[in-house]
Formats: sequence, C-alpha cells, structure tokens
Amino acid sequence: MEKNRAQVVVVGSFMSDVVTYVDRLPNAGETITGSQLVLCCGGKGANQCVTAARLGARTSMIGKLGKDSFGDEHLQTMTAEGVDTTHITLTDEALTGVGQLTVLPNGQNRVITVSGANAYLTVNDIACARTTISTAKVMLCEIQVEKETAIAALQMANDLGVLTILNAAPACANLDPAFFRLSDIFCVNETEAEVTTGIQVRSLDEAAASAKCLLEKGCKNHVLITLGAQGALLLSRGDADKPVHIKAPAVSAIDTTGAGDCFLGALAFFLATRPELVLHKAIEYACIVASVSVQRNGTQPSFPHWNEMSNELF
Ligand code: ADP
Repeated sequence: MEKNRAQVVVVGSFMSDVVTYVDRLPNAGETITGSQLVLCCGGKGANQCVTAARLGARTSMIGKLGKDSFGDEHLQTMTAEGVDTTHITLTDEALTGVGQLTVLPNGQNRVITVSGANAYLTVNDIACARTTISTAKVMLCEIQVEKETAIAALQMANDLGVLTILNAAPACANLDPAFFRLSDIFCVNETEAEVTTGIQVRSLDEAAASAKCLLEKGCKNHVLITLGAQGALLLSRGDADKPVHIKAPAVSAIDTTGAGDCFLGALAFFLATRPELVLHKAIEYACIVASVSVQRNGTQPSFPHWNEMSNELF
C-alpha cells in the first residue's frame, strides 16, 4: 500500500497551449498567415506535476478538465508520465483551459488564457481527495484555480500535517491572508513579488525587502523569490534578517518558459523524497534542474528526467 501512495500532490491547472508563430501582429480586422502552429500540454499545476514525476516522485494531480480532445490529451499525458489521475475529474460546464500564445520573431510573446474547466475544480473535489492528501509528504498548489478551492486544499494539508508549497501565481495584488497563513513555503517570481508587495524587485536587496514584506503579511515559515538567471532568495521566519541567496548555475538559456514550474516541481520532489536535505540545499538542487530546462525549447518537453541529471550533482 505504502509504495502506491503519492509523495507529491499537486492542486492546480491544466492549460492546452496553442502557440502560433508570426512575423508581426495583425491589425484590428486583419487576417495574417502564421509560419507555424504548436499544440502542447501546459498549465502551471500540470507542468509542476510532470517535473516532479519525471524526477521520480510518486505524484497525484488534483485538477479539472473539459470533455474535449484537449482534456483527453492531458489525461493521456499524465498517465504516460506515471501521474496518479484518480483525482483529475471532468466537467460538462466548460472546455479545457487554454493558453493562446502568439510569438514574434524576436521571441516576444502575447498570451491570452481562458481558465475554462479549471474554474470548476471545487472544494468538494478537494474533500474527495482527502485520503490521497493525507498520505502525501508535500502539497504543491497554485492559483490558476479558484482561490476558494486552493485555500481549502491548503487548509486540508495543514490539518493533516502535509508540507505546503504555494506558488502564488498568477500575480495577485490582494491575496487572501489565508494564503500566507497556510503556506509553509510561499514562492513567487520577481514580478509576482512586486505585484503582491508593491515593492519593485530589480536587485537582491529589493528582493530581500519584498521577501520581508511577505513574511510580515503572515507567511507561515519561508518566503522564496525566484530570480531567473540569478537563482532564488530564501527568507525564513526566525531568521528574518538573514536572506539567503541561492545562485543558479551559469548556463546559456535559450527558452525560459516554464522555468518557474520546473523549479517548483523539482523543489517538491527533493523535499518529498530527500528528507535529509536542508531547505536551502533542496532549493540549490531545484535551481540545477531548472537550469537544465532553460537550455531546451518548449515547456514540458524541456523538463528533465532523473536519469538526465548528472549523478555527481546530487
Ligand atoms: P518564472 O518562470 O516563474 O518567471 P524564474 O524566471 O524566476 O521563474 O525562473 C525560475 C528558476 O529557473 C530560477 O530560480 C532559476 O533557478 C531557473 N532559471 C531561470 N532562468 C534561468 C537562466 N537564464 N539561467 C539559469 N537558471 C535559470
């Protein structure tokens, strides 16, 4: 029985990414011809779950799909990645969530997302997953699902003594205080930190000030701000005057989409499967995994498997 229990439970979104590559953006009323179309599975929750699974964690995903071909594809992908799909449910109310990306030759992109089925993941769906949550080591949660549902999930994990990591993304200016109170590790990138605290994050000192503000908002134990090529900054309650900067390996990045999701899935993996690791070491290792993903194209296709990570690094 123990061997089938999930180590990492992810509560979050599925998005089907529809990516078109164009030379320029169309004007109002104009139709232009793109050069390429790519369809792929994404969504913060799904991406994070796939990363943890590829590294070797037993994972379970709690999420909602529409009854459509995109939903079928997500289910097939999660199954192929070895994720427990028991708590991935379907709704008649909406289509599977979609991210519509338009990419210009210089790599700049415009993104429109439609939550679709993700908005139909309910508090009751979380209640139905109680047994799975109770046996997990780590819950990873983001807010591309309804806030009420995310709070219910975090509350349940807290009640059951499961370590919680909240990725407070997409950025939100007026976060419910429950999100701070219920997160053992509250993680945002620089932009999200800025929106949540109102403090600009362009340097390590500013990141430290923003992290301090987040701790003061009531974060339970740790604030983690990811800083792209600079790595991440950790600030912990009890050591609130000592921010720890964890550097990312210097690499030649070609595509950083999904780097944050890869980082978080890897962090959940290390915390769930390597209890002997201190937090800053687990963050260092997560930075190494994410640095591999930024050297490859795409989102999920860029996330490494455990056997692709160099043994001596770990
Ligand atoms: P997001 O994708 O949410 O914007 P970040 O850009 O902060 O998140 O990236 C998350 C993590 O990915 C970073 O903490 C770092 O470990 C890694 N990373 C991102 N960009 C690079 C890069 N150019 N070089 C090396 N590592 C990177």
